[in-house]
Amino acid sequence: MKSSELVIALTKGRILDEVLPLFERAGITPVENISKSRKLIFATNHKDVCLMVIRGSDVPTYVEFGSADMGVVGKDLLLEYGSEEFYEPLDLKIAACRLMTAEPIGALPAVGRLKVATKFTNIAKKYFAEQGQQIELIKLNGALELAPAMGLADCIVDIVDTGKTLTANGLEPRQLIANISSRIIVNKASMKIKHDIIRDILGKLRMAVEADQVR
Ligand code: AMP
Repeated sequence: MKSSELVIALTKGRILDEVLPLFERAGITPVENISKSRKLIFATNHKDVCLMVIRGSDVPTYVEFGSADMGVVGKDLLLEYGSEEFYEPLDLKIAACRLMTAEPIGALPAVGRLKVATKFTNIAKKYFAEQGQQIELIKLNGALELAPAMGLADCIVDIVDTGKTLTANGLEPRQLIANISSRIIVNKASMKIKHDIIRDILGKLRMAVEADQVR
């Protein structure tokens, strides 16, 4: 890959479905169908831009170390990663959801040390410390909703969109920790070295986001 090329790391999954149309309107389209390919890196119609498609939790790492110049990632993962090593210049206002605590429906507040299961351990630690609530943190990687029913935890910290997943598992949302949407992040050195192309793309993406808001 030429050093002049701009590498943008995208989060695979539901964010990708919403971000590709936005990029298309900003003039960047992959030359092949990403969802039908097993490749992880894609050329685009823009001769200087290529797209990587990886797990959201790896996007901040690639951008922090400069292996990708820009990235698209959920604010939840940025809060969890907690780095100052990149800029966060644009809220794409897509894949909106909430990071919340949830507990069994109707459960009374737990007394004493609260057992909290989550994959967002840094966020949970900070949130409950700010609330002055002592917790025992239980790290899980998926199916968090099972933890209270199985007696592993009193409470979970997870992403909530419609709330249907919680309800289906006998849980209800309680406290809002943060409103989440997908953000553009930019490596600090890339912002200096590749300033013109990054500014151009950010400007076009910003216009596409604003056009979506007035629709
Ligand atoms: P829901 O049942 O609509 O509340 O969706 C909840 C589940 O969908 C969560 O457990 C998340 O894993 C996933 N989810 C929903 N929206 C998002 C999003 N914007 N980003 C990442 N995961 C999401």
